[in-house]
Amino acid sequence: MTRIVYVNGAYKRYAEAAVHVEDRGFQFADAIYEVIEVRDGHLVDASRHLARMARSLRELAIPAPMSDAALSQVIQQVIRRNRVRDGIVYMQVTRGAGPRDFTLPPPGFLPTLVILARTQRKGWSAELAETGISVKTIPDNRWARCDIKTVMLLPAVLAKDEARRNGSKEAWFVDAVGNVTEGASSNAWIVTAGGTLVTHPLDQRILPGVTRATVMDVAKAEGLKIEERNFSREEALQAREAFVTSATNIVMPVVKIDGMPVGDGRPGPLAHRLRIRFHHVAEISAG
Ligand code: PMP
Repeated sequence: MTRIVYVNGAYKRYAEAAVHVEDRGFQFADAIYEVIEVRDGHLVDASRHLARMARSLRELAIPAPMSDAALSQVIQQVIRRNRVRDGIVYMQVTRGAGPRDFTLPPPGFLPTLVILARTQRKGWSAELAETGISVKTIPDNRWARCDIKTVMLLPAVLAKDEARRNGSKEAWFVDAVGNVTEGASSNAWIVTAGGTLVTHPLDQRILPGVTRATVMDVAKAEGLKIEERNFSREEALQAREAFVTSATNIVMPVVKIDGMPVGDGRPGPLAHRLRIRFHHVAEISAG
């Protein structure tokens, strides 16, 4: 349960926490966000998340609402005031409020900052990883700057709903030439017959996942081979294993794609190993 939310300098009760009706985040999705895992009262990979948040802001020329040091203090307060030991921190920064106008506000405007924390039952993703998830492929109809973590999430919302209506937990976006770009809210991976990990290269068509980066560190430490290259839905269906990565799912095995089994249709050993090793390699810091 979320009890207290940080909004523009004040800690508000959840029911009363609000932003302006003419906030640009509300009217234009002119906003970015971050989600950080909280585990045993600690933040996971906070530096990478804060660095990505700073990059998203820079790419859109939204000023940082405060320094990283101040932000870390507020994050700790929000976690403490909500008594979160296991769950997530959600942060959103918008280009502020003002009469609706497509033109960007002049320099000196105040960005909106919201930070909330929420408890999630410990072990939910480990339990889900025991059976794995199904994914549904969906044409990638998003804009051409998916490397920026904006709140412009309608394509992901609709894709996930279509996946859910087809009995799948996640959607995999497929581009015009048949390559899997990424999940609606995760990065997509396969394991080849030879045991090589394959995931889409970092470019403007995917989000540079923090979990993706740390899983690469884990894979390197484990001596696994990684290829950052395109792969198609057909290649994924021939793969030995498939999985997705995200701050909330960590490493989640994919056992079916469009109703067809991946490998033997059960979670694979490599995904399991990466998952088990993940928190030994990730940065764990005060929260
Ligand atoms: N791709 C997309 C489109 C996402 O929304 C997310 C999760 N926010 C990810 C990838 C995974 O990113 P991370 O590992 O940083 O959570």
